[in-house]
Amino acid sequence: MKVHEYQAKQIMSEFGVPIPQGRVASTSQEARQIAQELGVPVVVKAQIHAGGRGKGGGIKLADTPAQAEEAARQIIGMRLVTHQTGPEGRIVKRVLVEEQVQAQRELYLGVIVDSGRAQPLMMASEAGGVDIEEVAAQSPEKIHKAYVDPAVGFQPYQGRQLAFASGLDGDLLRPAVQLMSGLYRAFAAKDCSLAEINPLVVTADGRLLALDAKINFDDNALFRHPDVADLRDPDEEDPLEVQAQELGINNYVKLTGNIGCVVNGAGLAMATMDAIKLAGGEPANFLDIGTVNDVSRVVNAFKLLTADPSVKAILINIFGGMARVDVIAQGVVDAHQQMKVGVPVVVRLAGTNVAEGERILSQAGFPLIRAVGLGEAARKAVEAAG
Ligand code: GDP
Ligand code: MN
Repeated sequence: MKVHEYQAKQIMSEFGVPIPQGRVASTSQEARQIAQELGVPVVVKAQIHAGGRGKGGGIKLADTPAQAEEAARQIIGMRLVTHQTGPEGRIVKRVLVEEQVQAQRELYLGVIVDSGRAQPLMMASEAGGVDIEEVAAQSPEKIHKAYVDPAVGFQPYQGRQLAFASGLDGDLLRPAVQLMSGLYRAFAAKDCSLAEINPLVVTADGRLLALDAKINFDDNALFRHPDVADLRDPDEEDPLEVQAQELGINNYVKLTGNIGCVVNGAGLAMATMDAIKLAGGEPANFLDIGTVNDVSRVVNAFKLLTADPSVKAILINIFGGMARVDVIAQGVVDAHQQMKVGVPVVVRLAGTNVAEGERILSQAGFPLIRAVGLGEAARKAVEAAG
């Protein structure tokens, strides 16, 4: 799960990471008010769950409260397109109004989980700012790394090494190590998959400040952090994925193709997507209905897929292990009774109670395209989708 910059900064600051003074506003009048209270100059920053806002026109400097109001008026409601949003962009609902900072240097600091090493990894670079991906690709030697043993946490000597390597020496050394320790503690305490400060700046008067902040949380640990779960912003998520959650379908990912998939088991769902690609098609989604003997789960899957205008055919691929094929088949029948499906449906069933499932479908009285093998099912779905 992602959160906004202002929320990530709030969390980091609770762990001792210094941040600029500022507050979030959802109207331009509020933005003016905040600028008045903070004192000018300020910076007005679009709050969306994507980076690259500066280059996309979502960050404006203001020298007076009136300018802050005008900047907020331009940003709130705009469709902000950045290299991370895709061409459709995001509608901005809020801005962060912050004291303007005179930065002498822009650095990068981030913690991620390195799944290859199964360890948290702290990275620091003197080449921070807006193009860190480019730095990583072109001059990886400028990115300094420290792997963290989760049993002991981030060690001060690691902080000193990273600080020296990225040019934070002299009077900056001690605050840099403190800041890194704070960032790591926030990362560990909140079960983050990423906690990043880009840029981390050295100000003209020699202080370190997190000018931007980004946190991604591990969804599997959200149950331990109800305060974090409350920060979820459905406006920033794919509406179909939000609907899937509401329908109790937790394993749904919207994709860009036109074949809607209903599958039980994540592995089979992946294999089904591969088979569709092999047959020359593109899946519209990943969907694992799970191992459930619940007719309504199948009906809900149909609700979700029929709500997606890009779906031109539905492929149902079920292998009944603990799940029963007859229950799934009944779900397919119920779905057709409860809603207008409107697109061709290809069904492949195998496993537990398959004979009963076949009987239910053969008596259903509406057209279904039947397949025995997975390859055959995929080919027929691609053909049906046109
Ligand atoms: P991103 O583009 O979404 O990553 O947004 P950032 O918060 O990283 O801002 C992008 C750039 O805007 C930064 O690298 C800074 O150069 C600039 N910027 C952001 N806040 C301030 C500020 O308070 N003062 C000044 N002078 N520049 C800022
Ligand atoms: Mn940034």
